[in-house]
Amino acid sequence: MEAYGAVAPPRELDRWESDAKYRTLFDSIDEGFCVIKVLFDAAGTPVDYVFLETNPSFERQTGLVAALGRSMRALAPAHEEHWFRTYGDIATTGEAIRFDAPAQALGRWYDVYAFRVGEPSQHLVAILFNDISQRKALEQALESRNARLREADVRKDRFLATLAHELRNPLAPLMIAAELLGRDNLSARQLGQTRDVIRRQVGHMSRLLDDLLDVARITQGKLVLRKQGVPLTEVIDSAMEAVRPLMERKQHAVAVHLDPAIGIVDVDPVRFSQVVANLLTNAAKYTDPGGRIVLRTRAEPEAFVLEIEDNGIGIRGDALPDLFVMFSQVADGADRTEGGLGIGLSIVKGLVELHGGSVQAESAGAAEGSTFRVRMPPSRTREMAVANTVARQAVARRRVLVADDNRDAADTIGMLIGDLGHEVRVVYDGQAAVSAARIFHPDMALLDIGMPKMDGCMVARALREEPWAGSLLLVAATGWGDAESRRKVFAAGFDEHLTKPVSPDDLERLLEGDRSAR
Ligand code: ADP
Repeated sequence: MEAYGAVAPPRELDRWESDAKYRTLFDSIDEGFCVIKVLFDAAGTPVDYVFLETNPSFERQTGLVAALGRSMRALAPAHEEHWFRTYGDIATTGEAIRFDAPAQALGRWYDVYAFRVGEPSQHLVAILFNDISQRKALEQALESRNARLREADVRKDRFLATLAHELRNPLAPLMIAAELLGRDNLSARQLGQTRDVIRRQVGHMSRLLDDLLDVARITQGKLVLRKQGVPLTEVIDSAMEAVRPLMERKQHAVAVHLDPAIGIVDVDPVRFSQVVANLLTNAAKYTDPGGRIVLRTRAEPEAFVLEIEDNGIGIRGDALPDLFVMFSQVADGADRTEGGLGIGLSIVKGLVELHGGSVQAESAGAAEGSTFRVRMPPSRTREMAVANTVARQAVARRRVLVADDNRDAADTIGMLIGDLGHEVRVVYDGQAAVSAARIFHPDMALLDIGMPKMDGCMVARALREEPWAGSLLLVAATGWGDAESRRKVFAAGFDEHLTKPVSPDDLERLLEGDRSAR
């Protein structure tokens, strides 16, 4: 007998050391870890499982409190069937599986690695897992953003084709008119007709170009309203004036019902008249000859409503949501001979919204006619309207520092912020956050709290000391939304606290300078 005798035999010591090591490992890792016993019914179908062991991260990763010894069905009755099936398969086959899947009952998405432990007859499965809800939410946000961009791209291509066509149309009559003017035997009547052709076609082209410029101004936030108090009737009259020739040509019956309670309104008369004219033009374009068009106004306690109703070709239900999107045209069913660039309604929406109002379309379907309703807000002062336009223009490009030791989370948030047009730096630990900030001088720092080397609170304290950081917006992103952790982050100098997974909407609001996001 020598050396080891007093302690333990070498093998036992090894086993003891490795058990202790594993225990420390599972207790300290960020991943959730648990061992479950899968329960089968008499037919061998997995029906439930019981938690035999959990590590400290388990609770944070699942939100399940005091799970030990309890069954999953008891803890989360709505937990999806696929979880029971998957763990049942692992317990019976012994095949380890890695997968990611949603757990809606827990409101999360997981990345899971699960494998069998113990004797096969014990039906024990060990599970290592990570809550990846944030990554999934961002992936989905990016995916839907991409889908929207792809769709916008297709619409733009279609628009360019239509635009080329529309701009080309007036050229043929203009060419012929030029040719005619070159002849010296033209009668006074022919001369007059030729002049009318030129005037009409040039007028058509300039309207198209004006629309194009308006769209560009509205989307770039450069259109400034010149609001003033004007009688609503005057604005409507000038719109009717512009559309009357088309309506007369199509022999439409037009009725106008004005609510006498609406007198003076606070609008940009030129732009609001353009809104009404666009809607009336559409009503006339998309209603067969001899149809009926009604314009109605209605006073509401703090607003006024303007409705334009027609009994024309109507709009399919599936086309309604996109109607106001730029370049959208309802291809089939609509009478394309009327032409148009598919931007009239987006101009209407842009102008109405600049006035602080809203516009909606209603239709019971194809051939059922349509109603467009504009709701205008209580009148504002002109100064406010101008300030509003300026504010729209000034969604500034910000410098944003993102720090999170979860690289996926940090990278995807970084991508999202970059995608929103801001300049972003991404780092994966606290020390790197401080060093990067000293060079980059961010306007906003989004910091994870539990980071290696320096935690988020230490980083916040360090950054608050920096001379350049006077207006730095410090945002903490933590897995905990409780009062105590909020108190801790605010005490460390944070301005805002977001609970993970950080919602893209909250982020966007903060980046736009809206501090009500929480
Ligand atoms: P455009 O008329 O140049 O195509 P708009 O943006 O004004 O573009 O309208 C977009 C689409 O909405 C039109 O192509 C048409 O299909 C549909 N639309 C607009 N107004 C009406 C209406 N009053 N009745 C039926 N469809 C309409």
